[in-house]
Amino acid sequence: MVFSDCSSATTARFLPFNRSRLPADSAVNIGRVVGPLQWRLPNPVSLQARSTLAVHSWSSPSLVINATMGTGTSAKVIDGKAVAKQIRDEITAEVSRMKDAIGIVPGLAVILVGDRKDSATYVHNKKKACESVGIKSFEVRLPEDSSKQEVHNHIAGFNEDPSVHGILVQLPLPSHMNEQSVLNAVSIEKDVDGFHPLNIGRLAMRGREPLFVPCTPKGCIELLHRYGINIKGKRAVVIGRSNIVGMPAALLLQREDATISIVHSRTPNPEDITRQADIIISAVGQPNMVRENWIKPGAVIIDVGINPVEDAKSPRGYRLVGDVCYEEACKVASAVTPVPGGVGPMTIAMLLSNTLSSAKRLHNFK
Ligand code: NDP
Repeated sequence: MVFSDCSSATTARFLPFNRSRLPADSAVNIGRVVGPLQWRLPNPVSLQARSTLAVHSWSSPSLVINATMGTGTSAKVIDGKAVAKQIRDEITAEVSRMKDAIGIVPGLAVILVGDRKDSATYVHNKKKACESVGIKSFEVRLPEDSSKQEVHNHIAGFNEDPSVHGILVQLPLPSHMNEQSVLNAVSIEKDVDGFHPLNIGRLAMRGREPLFVPCTPKGCIELLHRYGINIKGKRAVVIGRSNIVGMPAALLLQREDATISIVHSRTPNPEDITRQADIIISAVGQPNMVRENWIKPGAVIIDVGINPVEDAKSPRGYRLVGDVCYEEACKVASAVTPVPGGVGPMTIAMLLSNTLSSAKRLHNFK
């Protein structure tokens, strides 16, 4: 498949998705497997090229991050790397407060079945991220030909283990295993990925609260919050309707009182719908699909897509781009997430945050 490469005005070949191609520091579980800045949508605000902006935060209201302008344009770069670092620092402080107060350290258990290198890398990165904030990690590695029963036994063990507060089954599982049945076996109280149908069901229902929200969509909303971007009453379009990103992202935006449309592969003329949006979240997996003429002036763009495209100039032979043509979006949007460095770092930060919340809830620690 060949897409126009909007950064170089040449064409780039989309490499069929293969997570093992991604750099080892791509910490996400991609594919199959989470004084406010005054933005008034839809009008872009003019700020100096590099200004220091106070950012909304629940626990550290004085935190400040730098906002840079997108390439040659009016759009601000939403810096997921910087926000994720803030969140990890906050988690580190909370983990230490909890340990000092009640002697409990949050614990995350990861189950990896099979020998996919990419999955092993993701598990390794999650372990490293846990260590960096003081969360204890537990790991089980099972051979490719393990039985479903073996996986269920480990899940049951972690469900019962009081030192484990979050359980994550690394996806994809080998083809002989039923992913749904394995995920359903994780206790809803330790479902830090937020994929359990009960958690998704609660997310969808008014008056019900999920115990956990899937990490990537939660990270998207957190970015909007931390940049002080108003969601209430705005028109939002989510491109993509997967169980792990698009659908929960739409449910979250709806909970925030946005008016939502969902665009998917069967939507005719998607650009007619996205052009009406104050906020676009794109989770498709098609490089540079969202072009300038898809975007309403002043809109905020959250690009979840991570797509490797051929790049002879890169030592790896490829580079990563989003679903959104970044340079074009920068010309018309008021704010945009880069790829990499936007949503990706937020996914792991939200996993750590979910694990901490779980430990607090299970030990009734405020
Ligand atoms: P899925 O393949 O599960 O879902 C893709 C969605 O996009 C589907 O709903 C599909 O529609 C829709 N779609 C496909 N083609 C088009 C099109 N031409 N126009 C409109 N909609 C289309 O992918 P995921 O949700 O798992 O991931 C999406 C992207 O996000 C990927 O690039 C992935 O790598 C990335 N990702 C990034 C993460 C991060 O941390 N940054 C985490 C997870 C994913 P339909 O339902 O009709 O098939």
